[in-house]
Formats: sequence, structure tokens, C-alpha cells
Amino acid sequence: MYDLIIIGGGPSGSAAGRIAGKRGLKTLLIEKEMFPRYKPCGGGLSEQAMSYLDFKIPKAIIERDIFGARVHFRGRVVEQHKDYRIAVLTSRNVLDNFLLEKAKETGIQIKMGERVIEYQENDDYVEVFTDDGMYKSKVIIIAEGSHGNLKYKIRRKDKKNEYAIGIVAEIEEGNERIDKYIHNAIDLHFGYFKHGYGWIFPHEKYFSVGIGGLAESLPNPKKKMLDFLNENNFISNCKLHSYIIPAGGIKRRITSPRVILSGDSAGFVDSFYGEGIAYAIRSGQIAVEVISEIILNNKDLKTLKNYEVICKSEFIDNLKYSLILSKLIHSYPSIFLKIFTNDEVINKYLEVPSMKISYKNYIKWLIPRMPKFLLKS
Ligand SMILES: Cc1cc2nc3c(=O)[nH]c(=O)nc-3n(C[C@H](O)[C@H](O)[C@H](O)COP(=O)(O)OP(=O)(O)OC[C@H]3O[C@@H](n4cnc5c(N)ncnc54)[C@H](O)[C@@H]3O)c2cc1C
Repeated sequence: MYDLIIIGGGPSGSAAGRIAGKRGLKTLLIEKEMFPRYKPCGGGLSEQAMSYLDFKIPKAIIERDIFGARVHFRGRVVEQHKDYRIAVLTSRNVLDNFLLEKAKETGIQIKMGERVIEYQENDDYVEVFTDDGMYKSKVIIIAEGSHGNLKYKIRRKDKKNEYAIGIVAEIEEGNERIDKYIHNAIDLHFGYFKHGYGWIFPHEKYFSVGIGGLAESLPNPKKKMLDFLNENNFISNCKLHSYIIPAGGIKRRITSPRVILSGDSAGFVDSFYGEGIAYAIRSGQIAVEVISEIILNNKDLKTLKNYEVICKSEFIDNLKYSLILSKLIHSYPSIFLKIFTNDEVINKYLEVPSMKISYKNYIKWLIPRMPKFLLKS
């Protein structure tokens, strides 16, 4: 009997695994893939995400330091930089492998290449069935990401206006040419479709080029992606990877008596920018903080619900306001996206991923200044 089984070895599962190992919980982490594995992603790791880790991301994993953003909308282009770093760019196969190693070094047991097929929650324990056997645990964390069906025993499936489709391609290029295209900043393109944007992220040896938009507003994502590649002079015969991105800020059920959903499984993604790694890491950690209180300090199992309370106090409100900003901007693009391509507005927004300002305070800052920015535009 394990104290804890974690399903999934992405950023959320690894973060949970590391805390569990450090706290001495008898833990098994089950991951269906053999690492390093590919994960469709822009690979942006914000300062917020890194602030949650109790170790530094090694230089070898950082492909570029990001200080700013260039934003495009209907021919308008604005570029702003901060004098401090707001994020780094990484390749997810490398990053996730490293995060999993950091979990492994705490002594937890890890099974790779084994898929969890089903689980059964009983009064005193949970049974976890894989394609190779069955394991028992006092509690489990489902960190399976946005794909997979295990989470749907706890929460309903998202509707088409509650999740986005992301399509991404990695297009190889020399570092010098990448640097020439954009220096230490990310490139964001609005206005291609409603409720989303296209991005060009300058990695070390490739551009991450992608689009992400609310599923209901993106009926033919592959065509939009090909248009985006064409319009930005990229080859269109590259390999495309598509994946689901849940919209954060929507109320979802994320616990049952012995089960916690974390990361993308719980829907913890910034609805405006699409950032999910920070929330995946922190929710995995919070899940174990709550679980270890129950197992090590004999707290009532009912306190598992504290998971939701702590997530709310730390970041769920931020996700709610990112959803509000997203709705405002994409419902009235001619007003808000015009404003969003203003130096001061972008410069202020860059404070969000570096945790200097919350989405709520960003909106509070933005609204009273809108007439001024509209007159300027
Ligand atoms: C196109 C795209 C671009 C993105 N860009 C960014 C970005 O630049 N920055 C950012 O912060 N976020 C980005 N995101 C969001 C980010 O990728 C996710 O929020 C993040 O990966 C969530 O981490 P996770 O650990 O919850 O899930 P995942 O990273 O999806 O990990 C889940 C793991 O569980 C494993 N698993 C699944 N099912 C099972 C099973 N049944 N048994 C065992 N193992 C299982 C999977 O193999 C996987 O390794 C992007 C998303 C997409 C789709």
C-alpha cells in the first residue's frame, strides 16, 4: 500500500513527486511515456513558474532568456522590453526530463512506459489499474494533463468554449538568424481569429511557431495554422502537433474523497496567455502539502478539500481574471486589441508573468486609462 500514487510525470506530477519524496511519503509515480518525450508546447517558463521550484533551472536547459514581447495586430507592431527577465525558453522534452529527475532524487519510485487505464476509489484506499498490474494507495493525484479520461470521473468534460486548441511546429533555424528575427523577446500575433493568438518563440536552434484559440472559435485549426505559417514566411510542410489547452478560471470539481486533480487535469491554465506550467507545478505541490498533512499528521480525510481553498488563495483568482481579460479583449478586438498594441499597455502586461502584478490589478490599471489609450491609437 502506497501513501500516494501520482499519475503523470509532466511538470505537475514531477513537482508533486519531489515534495512527496522530501516529506517521506511512500510514493509511486506512473508515467505512460519513456522520458525524454515530446510534449506540444511553446516551452515558455515564466519567472513565476521558476519561483515555485526549490532549485535553479540549469543554464544548459535555458535556450533563451526573455525580457520582452513584440505584439502585432492589423499591421500595428509594438515591442517592449523590461530590464529584468520575465521568462526563459526551454524544450519540453529536456525540461520535463530534468524535473522528473529532481523528483526521482528524493527517493520516490517511478514507473515509466506504464499507462494507468482505470482507478477505483474505495472507502479506505484507491486501486490503480495499469497495463502492467494493479497498485493500492491511500490517495492519488491525477496529473495526466489535458488529454486522457481519468479526470472525468471527478469533473465533467469541458464545453467548446471552455478549452482551446493549440497547434505548434518546431522549425529549425540557426541561432544567429533567430537572434536577428527577434532578440530576447517573444512574438505574439493577434487578430487571425477570435479568442486566441499566434506565436513565434525564438528557441536556440528552432522557432516554436503556433496558434492557440478557443475551440468554438477555431473550427479549422489546421488551416489557420497553415495560413499563419505562410503569412510569416515559414515552410508549411513541417510537422504539426495539436493539443488541448483547458481555459482556466472556470469552476471545475477537482477533488473527490481520495483523489486530487492537478495541473492541466484540473484546468489550471491562464486563459489569456496560455501559460500552464507555473500552475501545474504549484498545484502539484499544494496537493502534496495537503495530502502529507493527512497521512503524516493524521488529519481528517475531509481536509483534502483544503487543496481547493489553498489553490484559490494562491492563484485561482488570477486565472479568473485572466479569463475576464481574455473575454474583454477578444469580444471587442477593435477596441481592446488596438489598446493592447500600445507601448505602455504591453510594458505593464509584462509584469504579469513576472508576478509583479496580478491580472486583477492589471485590469484595474487598464480600465481607467482606456480613454487615454484609445485617443492615442
Ligand atoms: C501548443 C501548446 C503550447 C503551450 N505553451 C506553453 C508555454 O509556452 N508555457 C506554459 O507555461 N504553458 C504552455 N502550454 C501549457 C502547458 O503545456 C501545460 O499547462 C503543462 O504541460 C501542464 O502540465 P501537466 O503536468 O499538468 O500536464 P502534461 O505536461 O500534459 O503532463 C501529463 C503527463 O501525464 C502522462 N500521462 C497522461 N495520461 C497518463 C496515464 N493514463 N498513465 C500514465 N501517464 C499518463 C503524459 O504522458 C504526460 O507526461 C502550452 C500548451 C500547448 C498545447
